Amino acid sequence: MRTARVAIVGGGLSGLYAAFLLEQRGVQDYVLIEARERFNGRIASLSAGGAATPGNLDRFDLGPTWYWPELQPGFDQLVRELGLQVFEQHEAGDMVVERSPGARPMRMRGYASSPSALRLDGGMETLTDALRRKLDPARLVTGRHVRRLRCTGPHVELEAEDVHGIVSSWRVEHVLLAAPPRLCMATMAFAPALPQALSRQWQDTATWMAPHAKYVAVYDTPFWRGQGLSGEARSMAGPLGEIHDASMPGGAAALFGFLGVPAQARMNIPEDVLRSHCRAQLARLFGPQAATPRADALKDWALDPCTATAADVDGAAHHAAAPDAAVASGPWAGRLTGIASEWSPSFPGYLAGAVEAAQLGVVALLGTGSVISGEQS
Ligand SMILES: Cc1cc2nc3c(=O)[nH]c(=O)nc-3n(C[C@H](O)[C@H](O)[C@H](O)COP(=O)(O)OP(=O)(O)OC[C@H]3O[C@@H](n4cnc5c(N)ncnc54)[C@H](O)[C@@H]3O)c2cc1C
Repeated sequence: MRTARVAIVGGGLSGLYAAFLLEQRGVQDYVLIEARERFNGRIASLSAGGAATPGNLDRFDLGPTWYWPELQPGFDQLVRELGLQVFEQHEAGDMVVERSPGARPMRMRGYASSPSALRLDGGMETLTDALRRKLDPARLVTGRHVRRLRCTGPHVELEAEDVHGIVSSWRVEHVLLAAPPRLCMATMAFAPALPQALSRQWQDTATWMAPHAKYVAVYDTPFWRGQGLSGEARSMAGPLGEIHDASMPGGAAALFGFLGVPAQARMNIPEDVLRSHCRAQLARLFGPQAATPRADALKDWALDPCTATAADVDGAAHHAAAPDAAVASGPWAGRLTGIASEWSPSFPGYLAGAVEAAQLGVVALLGTGSVISGEQS
C-alpha cells in the first residue's frame, strides 16, 4: 500500500486546482487519482486542426465554454495569472429562430448578453493544461477508479481499480473529493458509512449539466457572419435547442449547440443519426454550406459514467444549492472534504465553483490564510 498525506480523487478543474494550491503551499506529499485515461473531467474539446497542443487554436469545447468576469472576478484573475488569452462570445448580427417543427426559420435582431461571457483562446482545456503543466507528474495517476474508502481513525485507505479490475491502494491522512457529490455516493463505498443526513444531501445534489449533450460543427470560414448572422439560434424544432458561434479568433470557424432532445430519448437514437439531424438543422438555419462541416462531434454527458448517474439522467437539470462539504462529527470528521464544483457556496456547478470549492477545501486542510496571490473573494 502506497502512502501520502493527501489524496485528491478526481482530475477535473477542482482536483487539478487543489493540487496546484497544495504544491504552492509546499505540500508535495499528495496523490491525485483520476478514473479516466485523461484529465480535465467535464472540460473536453474536439480538436479539429491536429494535435491538442497549447498553441493549437482549433479546439472546440464539448463541455464548458464561458465564464462571466463581472460575476466571477476571482476566476478571471486566475485566468489572467496563468497568462491565458480571452475573447468575448461573438454575438454581432441577427439570430435565427425556429418556433415549431415545420415552421420556416425566422430571422430576428440579435441581442447582446449581459453580463458578457468570455471564452479562452484554444478552448477551456488551455486552463486545465496550464494548471497541469505546473504539477509534479509523479503525483498524478490516471485510469484508476476509486471504489472504496475506509476510515481507520488516523488514516483513510483508498482502493482504486483499473479497467482490468486490478486494485491499487493508498493510505492517506486526508481525502479531497474532487468528483461530483452524487457520483461519489453512487460509485464509491464508504466504511464506516457517512452520516445519513450528509449522504442524503450528497445523493440529492444534481450534477450540473450531466443530463446535457453538446454538438460542435467545424468549418473553414464563419460563412454565416457574411450573411449578417451571429451564429445564434433558438429552435423548438430541434434536435438542437440553442446554438452559438464557437469560432476561434485566428483559427477555424465553428457552431455549437445544446441538444434539446431529453437524455432518455437520446439514448434510443444512434449517435450518427443524431449528428446527421444536427447537420440538417444547421443547413436549415444557416444555409447549405452548414451541411458539410469539415469535422463534427457530439458529446453526450448523460452517457458518461464518470460524470452522470441514473438520477442525473432522470432528474431535472437545475443548479442545486451546495451541500455540506465536510463531515461534522464521527470517524470521518477532519478526514474528508468535498471540493468539486457542486460544493461551491457561491457558484455551484460552474467552473468558478470548482476553483472556489477547491480553494476552500485546501484552506480548511492547511489552515486559513491566502493561498495564492489572487485568492478568490
Ligand atoms: C456541456 C457542459 C457545458 C458546461 N458549460 C459551462 C460553462 O459554460 N461555464 C461554466 O462555468 N460551467 C459550465 N459547465 C460546468 C463545468 O464544466 C463544471 O463546473 C466543472 O468542469 C466541474 O469541474 P470539477 O473538477 O468540479 O468536476 P468534474 O469536471 O466533473 O471532474 C471530476 C473528475 O473526477 C473523476 N472521477 C469521477 N469518479 C471518480 C472516481 N471514482 N475515481 C477517480 N476519479 C473519478 C472524473 O473522471 C472527472 O475527471 C458545463 C458542463 C457541461 C458538461
